[in-house]
Amino acid sequence: MNAHKLLITIVFSIVIAACSTSPTGRPQLITKSDAELEAQAASTFNAYRSTLPLSTDRRKIDFVHCVAQAVVTELYPPYSDIEWELAIFEDKQVNAFAMPGGKIGVYTGILDITEDEHQLAAVIGHEIAHVTARHVNERASRGALTGIGIEALAVILGGGYTGGAYTANQVLSAGAALGMELPMGRGQETEADVVGLEYMAKAGFDPRAAVDLWQNMSAKNGKKAPPEHLSTHPANETRIENLINQWQKTLPIYNQALADGKNPTCKKTW
Ligand SMILES: [Zn+2]
Repeated sequence: MNAHKLLITIVFSIVIAACSTSPTGRPQLITKSDAELEAQAASTFNAYRSTLPLSTDRRKIDFVHCVAQAVVTELYPPYSDIEWELAIFEDKQVNAFAMPGGKIGVYTGILDITEDEHQLAAVIGHEIAHVTARHVNERASRGALTGIGIEALAVILGGGYTGGAYTANQVLSAGAALGMELPMGRGQETEADVVGLEYMAKAGFDPRAAVDLWQNMSAKNGKKAPPEHLSTHPANETRIENLINQWQKTLPIYNQALADGKNPTCKKTW
């Protein structure tokens, strides 16, 4: 093999590897178009916003915006270049989600669980990591996004009812169909935890707070909780252990962020 041919082979191998490896080095099957998923996500997000009640509590809105802004600022291209949109829904469910293309939804119910800005940053970092690690695409590529929710999505996107408003249930099942609210696979959840910790630490939030968050979630989580993305993932020992194992890597990132003067002044004022 001559040098030229070898070079081509190496470049080719790198491209292939880049296409099929997640941020933590997990092999990933990606066959769907990101642009298509992003378009679906944008429609669904708009349907959420026009159907579910948005919070009008200035203190909550400012708090969530402050934390989300600080975390998003630390992302890498192309995710640092997109304009992230944030919606805060007045709803007692303990949940949050993020969608391809940079949409973040937070339910006010989760603000009762997150005791401070560090814990909320753990939630937001986790959700954003699902997007940057292309988890929805991965689910779609595996054919996991099927079922009744897709029909609801078709109604919403296709305007099946003339002039009719969509019910909250229709919108929610459409979001669930896109894999935005239902639990992802274990590998994806662990990955979102790991990558999310890095994002929050880079922004100047204490990565140790993620342990408190999941313990709060676990304590609050009733036995008959509905299937929600966050609350169906109990803070089992493995998860907590994984989070603690990341401290060695993420605490120096956090300390560096503080040394660089990153100290987001987002406060829970209620
Ligand atoms: Zn998750």
